[in-house]
Amino acid sequence: MQQFITDPAKGVPFLGVDTMAKVINTVGITTIFKELVKRLENDFLRWDEFDKSPRYASHSSQGVIELMPVSDNDLFACKYVNGHPINTSVGLQTVAAFGVLSDVATGYPVLLTEMCLLTALRTAATSAMVAKQAAVTGASTLALIGNGAQSEFQALAMQTIVGISAVRLFDVDRNASTKTATNLAGSGLDVIICDSVEQAVDYADIVTTCTADKRNATVLLQEHVKPGMFINAIGGDCPGKTELDEHILVKADRILVEFEPQTRIEGEIQQMTSDFPVTEFHRVLKGERKARDNAQQLIVFDGVGFASEDFTALVYLRDLLKQQQTEQLQLIAQPANPKNLYGLLGS
Ligand code: NAD
Repeated sequence: MQQFITDPAKGVPFLGVDTMAKVINTVGITTIFKELVKRLENDFLRWDEFDKSPRYASHSSQGVIELMPVSDNDLFACKYVNGHPINTSVGLQTVAAFGVLSDVATGYPVLLTEMCLLTALRTAATSAMVAKQAAVTGASTLALIGNGAQSEFQALAMQTIVGISAVRLFDVDRNASTKTATNLAGSGLDVIICDSVEQAVDYADIVTTCTADKRNATVLLQEHVKPGMFINAIGGDCPGKTELDEHILVKADRILVEFEPQTRIEGEIQQMTSDFPVTEFHRVLKGERKARDNAQQLIVFDGVGFASEDFTALVYLRDLLKQQQTEQLQLIAQPANPKNLYGLLGS
């Protein structure tokens, strides 16, 4: 049997939101994005080693609750995550998440953590990893449509990995754009708040849509897109929740996806027929397909978020924590005689 990665008698390492924020500030968000992208690339390159399935989703009129499992030979990861665009109107987040990493050999958890911040980091790192391959060389301007919880992370990852220097913000809620601009002050990015999508996408090399609206929205219309653009569409991630005018998908020269079976259900391509051609991103990294052939092509990343990205983030976090004391949760019973669970109740 494999060695325990953690000692269950001591408890399961647990990371709450405050501790996660401290870890991010101590390591530095730029360092984290660089390391996460490196690790995401390594894990996408070993795509075939993962046991993959579309995520489990429980839908309601207001939102969705999802479980995102994935494993390799050694570790199993699972994230609990919701998507409730209505939540911000009552002071709650659209996306709330936590997750677990477990030892495959024993099934014991080795890490339990908040994943609101971790999801924002891994989503931004994934966007930047794809943009690195699919955006035009020298891309300098990002249009960011939807300036909620994910937005600063998206901007900073694009700055760190792709080298963008300007961000053009648009949100139907002006206060959200002001919040993002304030948070990005001092980042070195030239931040401009725009009055419309048209204004935001003007001059943009990369357009990230990260809006939250539980309907087939058309945040971006075909007249907004120009040759050479890379569209990073990450807000449409569940049945009946899309962001792009379907004509953009028809017009695009290539549509990149994470795990095709899941994206067919949840992504922008749910608007298209089931044989509409897409390219799984791991093929680009493996050199089997190009993300773009020339600077004139329109490339779309239909990003819905895949469990392997959470796996990568959780393993990175576990490695970061090896040098740190963490809170330990007594989550798993550890009777001296493993067959005597009842004995823990006392006589
Ligand atoms: P959020 O609710 O904090 O922010 C969403 C913002 O979009 C809000 O400020 C809202 O005003 C704005 N918005 C809504 N409709 C708009 C429109 N038509 N035009 C411009 N702005 C509009 O949500 P968030 O946590 O930032 O998440 C954004 C989206 O990304 C959600 O739909 C979420 O489900 C999705 N998401 C995807 C991934 C992934 O891996 N693909 C990961 C995390 C979140």
